[in-house]
Amino acid sequence: MKDICHPDHREFKELDSSGQWCIDMDPKEPDTLLDLAIQTVVKNESVALRAIEEIPQELFIPLFNAAFSGGHKNILKAVVSTWPFPCLHIGALDMPEPYCDVLEAMLDGLQFPPIHNSSSRVPKLRILDLRQNADCMTTCSGIWNKFPFCYEVCAYSEKSIVKIGDANYRLANSDPQTSRPPMELLVDLYLDGTWMTSEFLSLICDKVEQSLGSLHLCCRDLQIDKSFDYKKTLKLLDRACIDHLGVDEASLCEVCMIMPGMVHLSSLNLYKIKFRSYNRKPFKTFLSHLSRMNDLQELSLAYFSLKNHVHKVLRVLSPELDSLNLNFCDLTNKDLISMSQILQERNLKMLNLSHNHIPWENTQPLRLLLENLSSNLQHLELNSCLITDGILSSIIPSLRFCTSLRVLSFACNPITMPELRRLLQNITPLMKLKYVIYPIPLHCYDQWHFRDSLDEEKLAEVKSE
Ligand SMILES: [Zn+2]
Ligand SMILES: [Zn+2]
Repeated sequence: MKDICHPDHREFKELDSSGQWCIDMDPKEPDTLLDLAIQTVVKNESVALRAIEEIPQELFIPLFNAAFSGGHKNILKAVVSTWPFPCLHIGALDMPEPYCDVLEAMLDGLQFPPIHNSSSRVPKLRILDLRQNADCMTTCSGIWNKFPFCYEVCAYSEKSIVKIGDANYRLANSDPQTSRPPMELLVDLYLDGTWMTSEFLSLICDKVEQSLGSLHLCCRDLQIDKSFDYKKTLKLLDRACIDHLGVDEASLCEVCMIMPGMVHLSSLNLYKIKFRSYNRKPFKTFLSHLSRMNDLQELSLAYFSLKNHVHKVLRVLSPELDSLNLNFCDLTNKDLISMSQILQERNLKMLNLSHNHIPWENTQPLRLLLENLSSNLQHLELNSCLITDGILSSIIPSLRFCTSLRVLSFACNPITMPELRRLLQNITPLMKLKYVIYPIPLHCYDQWHFRDSLDEEKLAEVKSE
């Protein structure tokens, strides 16, 4: 069990939604002779550009990696325009700064129709993936021989390679030299109104226009910040492709204008969304959109008041839901009762109820909720919920039922050291529990929860224990 004795959430952010530590502890592999040779080549642009015409196709991947990481724009453009494989993914590579320049170079490399260069190397690129995705290789070598030759190909849009189909495309285009094969550009878009965003969007628009309809712009993750005028961008997108949506600081009316058509959403994250009443049209329309999201697995609502009304949201959620974040949602005991009843049929793995100051005169609703979720719950957060010794003590028996629990976080609650010891003794039998994030005990503060009143000596003693 890992003791993290500080409510500082910095360490906690290293946890992903499935509760795995995301820190890469593996020592870096030493460079190979090939890596060193490629590094030398990319440092000399004219040598690199000549090499692209001559090198065997296997060397394109290390050359791309080196050009991308080093931000060598001209080499990148040339590599993309002659890419000898059907797909190209940024994948797990770190984005160099300024990232907009690097993405611009890659977009520049996309040609319509693909241009045959002097080396008579036939460009094969059909899917350019500008998303960072740790699970994705640079190219999907495992399925090149099978249509549609890429694991990340769009499955939903009518303009996707899958829907248009290679056979249909060939039938309609007898001259492969002049025709435009269907292509896909995969992106994640963060619309925050910055200059970088506007620049990147205008490049994408240019590319879609140049393609004369052959390029499908496929956005999988769309994040919209309050300050951004998203309407023009939405017109460019097929909303059926989007699987992650985040909206910050908007009205519920605006959210309801963004959601239609997003029927394949797997994750929805809304932060500080304003609305006036649960009985008015925006809230009802929001519920109606939610009810159509049959693939929704993660729902995160923060600063989204659901006081005594959480049941209205829970009832329309997909049976697929496995992660629920309800931070700062003004939840009450009545809401916890609704949750325990409605969620007991679901396989909820992650529940975050942090920053809800629930009146704890009765802990039975929380106990019931934990017991009803106990068989599947892997990750539970109850940070800043004004949980005292008495409340913690009364929920410990229910926590012991949660045998699948891997992560338990209840930082920033007024708990004493003896109660913390008691908790740790009681949860030790939970064999899957790997991480417990607990609060600094009360006696370390002169005045609870004022950082300035922390007694460093007492804290050091707690840490050593
Ligand atoms: Zn691929
Ligand atoms: Zn798509």
